[in-house]
Amino acid sequence: MVAARGAIAFGILVTILDPAHATSLYSNDRQVADNCCSGCNSSTSHFGYTEATCHGPTHWHQITYDWRFCGRSTQSPVNIGTTSSIYRPDLKAFPLRFRNLCLRIPARIRNNGHSPHFDTENEAVGLYNVPGLPGQKFTFNEFHIHLGRRLPEGSEHLVDGNKFPMEAHLVFYNARYGDAVTAKRSPRGLAVIGVMIQVAEDGDETDDVYIERKDKDCGAKRHRPYSRCVCNDKNPYSAYFCKSSGKCKCKDDNDCPGSSKCRRNDVIPGGYCGKPKGCRVRFARNLSYIMEQYYEKIRFYTNVARRLEDRQWVPVTEGISVSDVLPYDWSYFTYQGSLTTPPCYETVTWINMRCPIKVSRRAYNDLALVRDVNGPPLRIFGLDRPPQRGMYGGPGVTIGRNFQWDTVGRETKFCSRNK
Ligand SMILES: [Zn+2]
Repeated sequence: MVAARGAIAFGILVTILDPAHATSLYSNDRQVADNCCSGCNSSTSHFGYTEATCHGPTHWHQITYDWRFCGRSTQSPVNIGTTSSIYRPDLKAFPLRFRNLCLRIPARIRNNGHSPHFDTENEAVGLYNVPGLPGQKFTFNEFHIHLGRRLPEGSEHLVDGNKFPMEAHLVFYNARYGDAVTAKRSPRGLAVIGVMIQVAEDGDETDDVYIERKDKDCGAKRHRPYSRCVCNDKNPYSAYFCKSSGKCKCKDDNDCPGSSKCRRNDVIPGGYCGKPKGCRVRFARNLSYIMEQYYEKIRFYTNVARRLEDRQWVPVTEGISVSDVLPYDWSYFTYQGSLTTPPCYETVTWINMRCPIKVSRRAYNDLALVRDVNGPPLRIFGLDRPPQRGMYGGPGVTIGRNFQWDTVGRETKFCSRNK
């Protein structure tokens, strides 16, 4: 295992990190908790993840006027209901494209008191074909990883009510706004790719397969997203044929949940509309390595410098690449939402990858042990805002997807040298 790490071939960095200017979206430091609960000064406001105090997630919008968006109606994260997601041929027609996908660019990391971010000032990496905005360029800015209080439940987004151990957020800003800080306040200013992360068993640094879990509410009766379905037309013979044959005869046979001719049915036996296909889960070797190396370096919050610029930045000598974090399969869900931390601007186009990746257990542990501004390791309160929409009985959310179920599992070949 150790030998394997040493053998990782990182590419050569092409430019020198420029520490002079910071355009990160998340450079604001988390403040030491004070007693101010509402109407606070925005520059010293504090937020947290425990509801035991007035700084918990349900109160963020009250703390300072600048965070009022946190209480609005198109917030993130959400529960992604896969059966009600809508297949969008326009997304398939314009698949995600990256500029310099495999390039390693200079980056740096520091402990800002709530969650460590791998930031870059380099603008070489771009994302094109963000849903609804084909052709527009989005520039890569940073990535960070969320985790929870318990290992299995650390992702911010849920898939059919289920959490994953961690969730990476790759943040891109709309290049037409010029810089990340302007873009995050502007309409359609950000695109964030969310990637679910599993934890490898010790020593298991190989790929494996992920099959969707069965929906909690339905038990073993049916899978999601491959719900049983019956024909929804008025022809009794057609309906009878469906039941007796156990086959869905709907026109859009592979995409039953989104078809107007089909409806889901939990009781009448029927065939699955497409066989569940698993994703090959990529062991993210470079990401594991970077997490192991750098979360340990910035474990403690060194709040000795008064000025932001003076606090310790640690250069990531290997650089970072967007490809470190992406899964093989670029099937995704998408919706319009917000930043999941204050100021919760509702300017984010979310691109939630369907297939997870996995990292080493040590990488997870190193993140869990990073100390927040008040001293406790991040795992005590977690870094996962509760779902804001899409839960049973709560406000809804419209989720699109770029794939039909029968194509799930098709893999994108990229960066073989850097795998
Ligand atoms: Zn995030």
